[in-house]
Amino acid sequence: MKTILVAGGAGYIGSHMVALLLERGYEVVVVDNLCTGHWQAVKAPAKLRVGDVKDQAFLDRVFTEFPIDGVINFAAFSLVGESVGNPLKYYENNVGGAVSMLTAMKNHNVKKIVFSSTAATYGEPEKQPIEETDRTDPINPYGASKLAIEGLLRWCDGAYGIKYAALRYFNAAGSNADVGIGEDHHPETHLIPNVLAAALGKKSLELFGDDYPTPDGTCVRDYIHVRDLVEAHLLALEYLDRGGESGPFNLGSGDGYSVKEIVETARRVTGKEIPAAMKPRRPGDPPTLIASNRKAKEVLGWVPKRGLEEIIADAWAWHQSHPNGYEG
Ligand code: UDP
Repeated sequence: MKTILVAGGAGYIGSHMVALLLERGYEVVVVDNLCTGHWQAVKAPAKLRVGDVKDQAFLDRVFTEFPIDGVINFAAFSLVGESVGNPLKYYENNVGGAVSMLTAMKNHNVKKIVFSSTAATYGEPEKQPIEETDRTDPINPYGASKLAIEGLLRWCDGAYGIKYAALRYFNAAGSNADVGIGEDHHPETHLIPNVLAAALGKKSLELFGDDYPTPDGTCVRDYIHVRDLVEAHLLALEYLDRGGESGPFNLGSGDGYSVKEIVETARRVTGKEIPAAMKPRRPGDPPTLIASNRKAKEVLGWVPKRGLEEIIADAWAWHQSHPNGYEG
């Protein structure tokens, strides 16, 4: 494996993937329509081709231009709340993009894909930590669109021999200050960047619900450093290249933190007060999501190395150096 196509490589997680692949000596081709991504996040010598993954002719051109050995697909919409209000947007883009990507792979005889899935495929799990064999029953269209694609990947494996790893992310955060990349969404809806924007005095922080069935009433999530997350993608690609069996893998730390605990930790790391206002629940949020990462550790040999303090400290370094994101 030499040349890797990263779809959505100008986005938050995708750009960290590109940085890791370059560091490990791979040739990297990025496709991104830049609707949420940033061209500045794609560092040389990665090659950027701007276009939409739903555009079959565009993808076929890229697969003809470069000798692609494997695909890592991040290109998708990923906001739970937005998906509840606009399910068609999520099915059209996420499922539509996967259909054209798999079609291009089939047309060009590319047999390995690492695909971004999500803990939202589980819905409201009956037990924690969640294992890959647990029931999947999404409670929002975002999770449902990703689960639909996991189904499609299974069928494409059977029909065309396209091997896949569907990586079910828990909550990615952090940054890679060494190469000057970090999280920059417009609008930003994620907890850690919003907490840090509040620490910088750039916006006021709202916390969505303290009446959940959790120890302090706020939602519990499993936060994973984006640099650990992308390591797992490379391990998954190498695993498929060795003939590993297709399937889903949870990517989380195995530890859960409540919304209030995140704010407390951020206060400690930043030394800022960070005022927060309690608001009603946000639609589509399950109370608790904590990964069992046993499968990724055992099968892929993944070792997540960075804990919550480091996640927040790295994110803080990015927010301080880029208070206006890539534009600032
Ligand atoms: N959250 C919050 N305030 C914010 C953003 C998020 O209270 O400004 C809460 C959100 O309701 C959820 C948790 O933080 O309980 C994590 O949300 P995020 O959007 O970061 O990730 P998700 O788990 O939805 O993928």
